[in-house]
Amino acid sequence: MITGRCECGNVQYQIDGEITDYSHCHCSQCRRMHGAAFASFAGVVRRQFKYRSGESDLTVYNSSKSHKRVFCRVCGSNIRVDLSDYPDELYIAMGTMNDNPKLPPGYHIYVGSKAPWFEITDNLPRYHEEPQDD
Ligand SMILES: [Zn+2]
Ligand SMILES: [Zn+2]
Repeated sequence: MITGRCECGNVQYQIDGEITDYSHCHCSQCRRMHGAAFASFAGVVRRQFKYRSGESDLTVYNSSKSHKRVFCRVCGSNIRVDLSDYPDELYIAMGTMNDNPKLPPGYHIYVGSKAPWFEITDNLPRYHEEPQDD
């Protein structure tokens, strides 16, 4: 089991399963919302995720028609992103995880929007926007 929490500790969650997808997003929305060069997300199966506490402290920001960003309104920690195109999955902000979970191979997305002051120095796959599923 994987557990995580927001900075103030009000919001606690658990995942009864493995991470299925691991990505670093360089889009300008993630950069602003995470206050960082990029945001790292773990894809998990939605039905394996549950909150242990703090659900009443969650706030949702719709950053686009398809993206709902869920964060703690007390401390501002980003918890997850829900994508309407992937209703069976959730994307959890990796920085909120307590543990060091086993990860699938990572990759970078939206490198076309990367901050000019940050250089990617690893050899992970890079996608200008998102990888195409087919
Ligand atoms: Zn919090
Ligand atoms: Zn992003």
